[in-house]
Amino acid sequence: MGLLSQGSPLSWEETKRHADHVRRHGILQFLHIYHAVKDRHKDVLKWGDEVEYMLVSFDHEKKKAQLVLSGEELLETLQEKGERTNPNHPTLWRPEYGSYMIEGTPGQPYGGTMSEFNTVEDNMRKRRKEATSLLGENQALCTITSFPRLGCPGFTLPEFQPSPVEGGASKSLFFPDEAINKHPRFSTLTRNIRHRRGEKVVINVPIFKDKNTPVPFIETFPEDEEAAKASKPDHIYMDAMGFGMGNCCLQVTFQACSISEARYLYDQLATICPIVMALSAASPFYRGYVSDIDCRWGVISASVDDRTREERGLEPLKNSHYRISKSRYDSIDSYLSECGEKYNDIDLTKDKEIYEQLLQEGLDHLLAQHVAHLFIRDPLTLFEEKIHLDDANESDHFENIQSTNWQTMRFKPPPPNSDIGWRVEFRPMEVQLTDFENSAYVVFVVLLTRVILSYKLDFLIPLSKVDENMKVAQKRDAVLQELFYFRKDICKGGNAVVDGCGKAAGRAEPAAEEYALMSIDTIINGKEGVFPGLIPVLNSYLESMEVDVDTRCSILNYLRLIKKRASGELMTVAKWMREFIAKHPDYKQDSVITDQMNYSLLLKCDQIANGSCECPELLGPAFRKARHSGSKSDSST
Ligand code: GLU
Ligand code: MG
Repeated sequence: MGLLSQGSPLSWEETKRHADHVRRHGILQFLHIYHAVKDRHKDVLKWGDEVEYMLVSFDHEKKKAQLVLSGEELLETLQEKGERTNPNHPTLWRPEYGSYMIEGTPGQPYGGTMSEFNTVEDNMRKRRKEATSLLGENQALCTITSFPRLGCPGFTLPEFQPSPVEGGASKSLFFPDEAINKHPRFSTLTRNIRHRRGEKVVINVPIFKDKNTPVPFIETFPEDEEAAKASKPDHIYMDAMGFGMGNCCLQVTFQACSISEARYLYDQLATICPIVMALSAASPFYRGYVSDIDCRWGVISASVDDRTREERGLEPLKNSHYRISKSRYDSIDSYLSECGEKYNDIDLTKDKEIYEQLLQEGLDHLLAQHVAHLFIRDPLTLFEEKIHLDDANESDHFENIQSTNWQTMRFKPPPPNSDIGWRVEFRPMEVQLTDFENSAYVVFVVLLTRVILSYKLDFLIPLSKVDENMKVAQKRDAVLQELFYFRKDICKGGNAVVDGCGKAAGRAEPAAEEYALMSIDTIINGKEGVFPGLIPVLNSYLESMEVDVDTRCSILNYLRLIKKRASGELMTVAKWMREFIAKHPDYKQDSVITDQMNYSLLLKCDQIANGSCECPELLGPAFRKARHSGSKSDSST
C-alpha cells in the first residue's frame, strides 16, 4: 500500500483541518520534482513485481483454516534477516493492510534483458520459501486473493470478536480491528474513511443463486440499524475496509525511459487492465458465501469509499465541494498522453485552482488535469510529526494524496533526489495460487510493454468504454461469457509516436468503427480477419529477439497458460475454486461455505502452491516442466 510514515496519527477532524495545507504543499513538492526531472531521458527500462500474501493456519483435527495475525512480527524478522543485513538481499518485504498479510518484491528491479524473464519465478519461489521458513507449525503462506470466510466467526488466529462500538476503527459487525495491521497508519485510514464518509462503508456483493439458495436471500440485522438499512436482498453484506483492502493482488511497476514514455505506457496499459483482470479472476467467495462475481475490484472500491453523501450525489451540495463519481479505489479517469486526449470522454472533476497553478508552472493540460483530479481528495491520514516538511527535498504530502488514489494504473514521479525514473504501476491483477501462474501473468504484461514500445502499438479506445469493460470483467466467468470493447487496428493508429504524438493532435473525433466488442479469446489469441491477437503479436516479437533456449522455454510456458486461460482450455482460479466447492461433499448447493469446506479448499490451494499436488485443469501440463526447469537454481529443494 505504499511507504509508511511513522508517528502519531491525527484524528479525522484534525486531519481535515490540515487538508488544504497538505494539498498546497503536496503540489509544491510535486512541482519541485517535476521541474527537476521533467526532461530526464534515457533512464533504462526496469520493472518489478509485487505479490501480496496471506498467512494461513490449518487445524487438521477441527478441519479449520484461519488467518494468522502475525504479519507484523514476520515482517520484522524478514527485514532484519534480509534487507537490513544485506543491501543486496534478493527479496524485500513490506506491510499490508491485514495483520495476516505481507507483501514481497524482488530485492532489485529487473532490467531490460530477456534472460531476466527466467529469474522471476525463481525469485517468487525464494520469497515464498523465505517467509514460509519462519512460520509456525501447520501454517502456510498463501497467495489467494480473498479468504473465503473473511469476516466469519473465528476466522482469525487468535480469535477475536468484532466490536462494533464507538471508538473502534471499523465498527464492523464482522471484521475485528485486531485483524488490521498494527501500524497506526492502517487503523487510522480505516477510522478516517468512515468518519469522512459519515457512516460505515457499505459493500453489497450479489450472491450466487444455487439450487438451494433461499429466494430471496436475506440476512437480517435486527440489532444494527445501519446494517439493516445498508444491506440489500440477494447480496452478501460487508461493512469494513478489511473486506476490501484485506484482499491480495499482483502488481507490476515499470520504469520508463522518459516522462512521455511513461505517459504513453500508462494510457496503453489502462486499456489492458480489464482484460487481464478478467483473465486473472480469483476471488469468488466473500464472508462465507459463494458470490456472483469473480474479481475483488468492486469490493475494494466500496471498502475505501470515503465520499460523503453529498459527493455521492445523494444530497444537494452544501458542505462538500464536488460531486465525485468514483471511489478513491477505481479505474483511471483520464489518459495522460497526447494520443489519449481525444479518447478522454469521462467527466473529470478537478481542483480548479490547482489546475490553473499547474498550467502556470508550465505543465500541459493533460498532466495538469491528472494531478488536479487526484487532488480533489482529502488526505486520509496525517502524522503530527509530519505536518511541516521541506518541500524541496521531501514528498510526503504529495505521496499522501497520490498513494490513497488507488487506481487501475498509477503514474509515479521519481522520489526527490533519487536516481529512479518516471514509473507506471499496473494494478488490476488478482494474485494466483502458484509462483508459476504469477510469473506467467507478470511476464505477459511486461512483454506486452515491450511490444507496445517496439511496435508503437495503439490500444486506445474511449475511456468510458474501458470503464464499461471494468464492470463486465468482474462478473462470474467474464473471461468466457462476456465481450469487451477493444481497438480493432492496433498497428495502424498513426498516433503511436512516443515523444510528442504529433499526428494525433489534429485528428478528428474517434470513429465508432475504431473498436469492436470482442471475446477475451479473440483479444488474446486472435481471430482470422477480426483481430491479430496479443499472443501472436508477442510471439512474432519473440522470434525477432535473441533469447536463450531455457528462457524461451519458460516464456512459452507462461504464454501457453495465458492463451489457454483465455480460450477456456484452462480454468481461471475463480472458476476452479467454484468447481471445488460445488463438488465438496459438504456443500448443500445453498451458496454457503462452511469452515470445513474452507479448510479443504485452502489445504488444496497450499498443496498446489507448494507443488505437492498437480492441478492440470488450472495449470495445464506446462506447469510440471516449468517447475522443474525453474528449480535448477533452487539448490535447497
Ligand atoms: N491489496 C490491494 C489490492 O488487492 C492493493 C494494495 C496496494 O496498493 O498495495 O488491489
Ligand atoms: Mg500492496
